Amino acid sequence: MSFAIPEGWQAVIGLEVHVQLNTATKIFCACPTTFGAAANTQVCPVCLGLPGALPVLNREVVDKAILLGLACGSAISERSVFARKNYFYPDLPKGYQITQADAPICVGGHIDVPAGDDGGAAVRLDLVRMHLEEDAGKSVHADAGRSLVDLNRAGVPLVEIVSEPGLTSPEQAAACLAELRALVRTLGVSDGNLEQGSLRCDANISVRRLGDEHLGTRCEIKNLNSFRSVRDAAAHEIVRQITCLQAGEAIIQQTRLWDTEAGRTRAMRSKEDAHDYRYFPDPDLPELHVEPARVARLRASLPELPAARRARLHDVWGIPAHLAASLSAEPERAAAWEAALGPSPTPERAVSFAHFLVGRVAGALNRSDRDSAEVLAAMPLIAEVHDRWRDGRLSNKMLADLLSAAFDTSAPLAISLRDAMDAAGTVVDDDDGLRRALDDALAAHPAQAQALRSGETKLIGFFVGQVMQALAGKADARRLTELLRAHVDS
Ligand code: ADP
Ligand code: MG
Ligand code: ZN
Repeated sequence: MSFAIPEGWQAVIGLEVHVQLNTATKIFCACPTTFGAAANTQVCPVCLGLPGALPVLNREVVDKAILLGLACGSAISERSVFARKNYFYPDLPKGYQITQADAPICVGGHIDVPAGDDGGAAVRLDLVRMHLEEDAGKSVHADAGRSLVDLNRAGVPLVEIVSEPGLTSPEQAAACLAELRALVRTLGVSDGNLEQGSLRCDANISVRRLGDEHLGTRCEIKNLNSFRSVRDAAAHEIVRQITCLQAGEAIIQQTRLWDTEAGRTRAMRSKEDAHDYRYFPDPDLPELHVEPARVARLRASLPELPAARRARLHDVWGIPAHLAASLSAEPERAAAWEAALGPSPTPERAVSFAHFLVGRVAGALNRSDRDSAEVLAAMPLIAEVHDRWRDGRLSNKMLADLLSAAFDTSAPLAISLRDAMDAAGTVVDDDDGLRRALDDALAAHPAQAQALRSGETKLIGFFVGQVMQALAGKADARRLTELLRAHVDS
């Protein structure tokens, strides 16, 4: 979907993103956080909210939140406070959520959003804060109007990131979420899995006429769980608001929901129904104190961040910016790619292997039922396939067949790739074999052969195709083209 903001208008977007941290246990109890377990099997008196149960803060949660804050250039608070946010909902067993209100763990910072494929410029989105909180359970809406509650998720640690209203397009909003995903995965603080709800984005959107100094009234679109829904929901909401204003209506501050099926947002509640959460410090939890030494230790452990990796790949290896961005979006893949290239690859081979990975291999992966972890495990073999193809020992056709054969079976990818490589054989690249097939093709198409000899070089492609077909796709296309050129020139 390509989207242009109507002439004379500006959109303003601020994001609130919930990041589920990937600690083994919950934020205030020792229950496991494994996704997809049978309902209500990962619960205890603390996360069930039974009377008298006391929360104890998970130290690793704090470390991971600090890492995320440091990576975004936030100030880490030496003192932060857990508060109770009171509201009633069936998936909230205590009747309040433990969160941080006035004194969050991280303040300020920014996310550098890289330039998008749409040609949009890079932008720095300033952050207001990041705070720690516990996730709620899940209401499962069953048949016959019944709702069930699964409390496995209650108490899973979250960092909520609140940005300033600093983005101006739906593409930027989606790119920002993608950057955040790359960041949390690089840091190892979250799996960043959008489908499973590890990253959940609320987009606050307003519009104003170009030149207006005041921000317009905003609407908040809740729980966007894919890059695409962020982009589409924002685009739709911007148009809705502009249309309203052009018709002389006012925007009512609302919370809205994105309906993926219908492709529109609809009102959920307006500001008047806003809760009074009656925040107050949780008396069961002491203030959180973070020593400067702890921050220093965590800062020293920061890995190379996606922006730095992109810059390095671009500056040192000449990887084009958009390719460096696609690679860095999957940090484990980028690291495995780098390892498989070996210590001092030529820039040409590095660029070629990067294209190969985010193009052909990612395509084959998407068409298969396999997990991306298998690609990581098979990376050295994938590099071998790439190198064979790159130096002409595999034709395009052989490569395509090899990849679909390897991805199509149920054997581990590292094994099926090896088998497919053995089965593929090598291209016909000996001049005798190629010449023989070429002579046959020329003889079979005398009119085209004549035209070719009189200089119609666009027929080279035709004859490459004919020979390819005759040799079952196993001709070395590069050598064949050379032979054809020599034939024209002779
Ligand atoms: P609340 O406390 O009601 O959640 P905040 O002031 O904390 O409101 O803002 C929540 C989010 O809304 C932030 O991400 C902020 O950037 C964004 N936001 C605030 N005002 C606007 C606006 N006029 N247009 C777009 N986004 C906005
Ligand atoms: Mg808010
Ligand atoms: Zn528990």
